Amino acid sequence: MQCQRLCFRCEGGLQEITPANVTDIQFFCCLSCGCEYTLKTGGELHDRWLMPLTIVLYNVIYAQDPLAKIDVTMDQLQTKKPEFINALAKHIEDELDAPKQKLCDIHDFVYPNEQKLRDFLREVLHRLAQLKHAQSGAETVSSSLSNTDTRLLKNTKSRLSKLFNYFVIMIAVTILITYFY
Ligand SMILES: [Zn+2]
Repeated sequence: MQCQRLCFRCEGGLQEITPANVTDIQFFCCLSCGCEYTLKTGGELHDRWLMPLTIVLYNVIYAQDPLAKIDVTMDQLQTKKPEFINALAKHIEDELDAPKQKLCDIHDFVYPNEQKLRDFLREVLHRLAQLKHAQSGAETVSSSLSNTDTRLLKNTKSRLSKLFNYFVIMIAVTILITYFY
């Protein structure tokens, strides 16, 4: 069954994918980009469990102050693949720029507070950007270090070959002197 609503990310049509035995909740999948959504009876459409936003928000289900969970969340994100991190950053950015869903609907939060959840996501995005910046900085440093290594190696090699030439000449001279005297 097609859903009236469109995908939050690409405005593609949504296909219902609710299992036959489920009655009080519907699941949808975007036909274009594959994003999945949940619709509870009487509620609004929101990201389905395992979509990137639902993973980070899972960390703050019991938190009165979601920002207090930022370090734990960032540690957890370190273990995720780059594709996940990129999708997460994009989803957060889009959701903060143009809200499409009620974040409080995503989980059964003990202290549901839409603004605090958005502040938390903004901080996650900020930290992800910092991390990316730090990583690209580290790559530059390591590549310039390896350039230095290469230069040092070349210098050492040329010094060694000069030393070798000098050594050969000395032997030749010694042989000549021994021969003539
Ligand atoms: Zn889509």
